Amino acid sequence: GAPRTPLMAGNWKMNLDHLQAASTVQKLAWTLQDAKHDPTSVEVVVVPPFTDLRTVQTLVDGDSLALRYGAQDLSPHDSGAHTGDVSGAMLARLGCSYVVVGHSERREAYDETDDVVAAKAAAALRHGITPVVCVGEGLDVRQAGRHVEHVLAQVDGSLAGLDAAAVAGLVVAYEPVWAIGTGEVATPADAQEVCGAIRARVRETFGDEAADGVRVLYGGSVKPGNVAAVMAEADVDGALVGGASLDPADFAAIVRYQH
Ligand code: PEP
Repeated sequence: GAPRTPLMAGNWKMNLDHLQAASTVQKLAWTLQDAKHDPTSVEVVVVPPFTDLRTVQTLVDGDSLALRYGAQDLSPHDSGAHTGDVSGAMLARLGCSYVVVGHSERREAYDETDDVVAAKAAAALRHGITPVVCVGEGLDVRQAGRHVEHVLAQVDGSLAGLDAAAVAGLVVAYEPVWAIGTGEVATPADAQEVCGAIRARVRETFGDEAADGVRVLYGGSVKPGNVAAVMAEADVDGALVGGASLDPADFAAIVRYQH
């Protein structure tokens, strides 16, 4: 297939205020610079809380840092009476390249259905932001052996209505819920099974260009010590990293998994 640039995205979740964000981003950038990291070899993305985005924008623009950033959620609407929500237009103005949609914590806590996730992905694309569409099964589904069909149903629903060209630029993150924040990492073979099935489904639904372009990430307790093994799998194009992304040395080591 077409070459895909590996992507390492750090989801900070509800951690680090704007001052801590500044020092974390600076330490990450310095560490990568010291290591002479080539951003065209592995793309680096930080995903802080909304309240940190302006600070991150100022740092990245002011110092021409070789990293991109995104938000953890957005509204499916573009403006209006939606108290507490943040629009894709607002995120675009803050220079966000990416936005996570359908993280399992939001699917669970806010009952976000695949329809909502698809509407959010479409809203991101309307504003030129790349959605990182999260899918993944819970432990009960995994134990019942229904993880592939479960995830493919989420893919069908969460990408519904998108066109093939948009899907080619998309990021899909496979995050088995039982591996998130638990220290329990899926085996590389487990990750490949589902990431490969996701790409095959994209090929069936959207065609070769979409399947060869879409980047499929694995997420769930990725650490410096386990990232290389999962990255060696054919259909794993990167990682969505929670806990380990809060430590700039650990996240830099994940970015530099080839070294
Ligand atoms: C996540 O929340 O996207 C995640 C993968 O978290 P962790 O790396 O902490 O398991």
